[in-house]
Amino acid sequence: MRKLRILVDMDDTVEYLLYAWVDRLNEKHDLSVQYSDIQEWDISVAFPTLTREQVFAPLFEDDFWETVKPMPDAAEVLKWAIDEGHEVYIVTASAYQTIKSKMENVLFKHFPFISWENVFIAQNKQMIRGDILIDDAPHNLEGGDYAKLLMTASHNQTYDASANGMTRVYNWYDVKACIFAIAHADKLKGSWPSEIEHVVSRIQLQNMLGGTH
Ligand SMILES: [Mg+2]
Repeated sequence: MRKLRILVDMDDTVEYLLYAWVDRLNEKHDLSVQYSDIQEWDISVAFPTLTREQVFAPLFEDDFWETVKPMPDAAEVLKWAIDEGHEVYIVTASAYQTIKSKMENVLFKHFPFISWENVFIAQNKQMIRGDILIDDAPHNLEGGDYAKLLMTASHNQTYDASANGMTRVYNWYDVKACIFAIAHADKLKGSWPSEIEHVVSRIQLQNMLGGTH
């Protein structure tokens, strides 16, 4: 088995930032925007009655991060990956003012097996070396020298992942299957078990593996 260095985004990859953000803005400004209304990376487009400052304000409120919930199975799969012998690093483009509350109320609370030594704060994720990046933002995956797993989110649903060398994943069991496939690629030699084939097509998976050898 190949030991992998797995890079993992935080917001809307291991936790549901957007759900909490939309809820907070709706409550605070008496609005009824739906999560599915967030169709673009820039969330402010879905809140045309608010200023940019108003839209981004929740991120800088310490108690806001207490309301951000982890994604189902993310902790279980990341713990499994570490137990398998892989390295797991969080790579987040967080604003510096948000880091303390975000780490204490989200990462270290829901993912206690990940320490600060395994966190990168990076605006340009393509500068970080790793075998895989899991991220909901296409711009963090494009051009990176890693296998690219795009975590589905409302803002990236129309993005053509496979045309851009990425594999779209819908949940953390999909991620687990991809990690397993990449780590065991030599042994599998194209005969993927059915639990992996349901995630991605054989061609997609071979393209993804091609980028890591
Ligand atoms: Mg993200």
